[in-house]
Amino acid sequence: ALRKLAAGNWKMNGDLASLGEIESLMAAHPAPRCEVLVCPPAVLLYPMKARIGQGPVALGGQDCHHKASGAHTGDISAPQLADAGAGYVILGHSERRADHGETDAMVAAKAAAAHAAGLTAIICVGETEAQRDAGETLAVIAAQLEGSIPVGSDAANTVIAYEPVWAIGTGRTPTIDQIAEVHALMRERLSGMVAAGAPVRLLYGGSVKPGNAGEIFAVPHVDGALVGGASLKAADFGAIITAL
Ligand code: 13P
Repeated sequence: ALRKLAAGNWKMNGDLASLGEIESLMAAHPAPRCEVLVCPPAVLLYPMKARIGQGPVALGGQDCHHKASGAHTGDISAPQLADAGAGYVILGHSERRADHGETDAMVAAKAAAAHAAGLTAIICVGETEAQRDAGETLAVIAAQLEGSIPVGSDAANTVIAYEPVWAIGTGRTPTIDQIAEVHALMRERLSGMVAAGAPVRLLYGGSVKPGNAGEIFAVPHVDGALVGGASLKAADFGAIITAL
């Protein structure tokens, strides 16, 4: 069966002192049933790797450049993330699409770079509230998948995260039926886009908390979560890990 994935996205939060949360998490969950991933700000990758050691927590970046090296001040490449101990990288998060103008084509190029560096790309898609209100959700998600997933994607190097923009950091979530509808669409569309074989893991993200994790994880084709705010505290993230 698919191993479920609990992924924490720290966004632009945390400092050296926050690494204590990872130690608490590992102490409380030495052998988690699901795969556990934390994606801290890039400056924390090396010290976090040192704290994790051979522990059960995987590391990921929050973005990468589409080139492996060169004159790109302020950017970080996929091989550099891998060198720092990352196995994953989040790509095309709606905050990067909004703050940095990332397009589907840019996300696809970054994902190809991640794959070349041996990283698993967590490619994010999601509709805005205006798009949902206009009845465009499924068309938006289908187009984002079509544009953001590079050739060569498969279940080992790719994870998809459905994150409705209006559910991020708001405490609002779609209904169970709405999550089920989007995940079923993604499962169907992906079958033509990735190598045959094991199914790609599909995460839900957007205001996942200990209190709603259980019912969200019970939805068909939800293979884990991408968690923002609730991943910053070991107690909250631990409760979500237990629910998976
Ligand atoms: P929250 O869990 O804080 O809503 O953030 C979700 C998210 O954007 C994870 O990438």
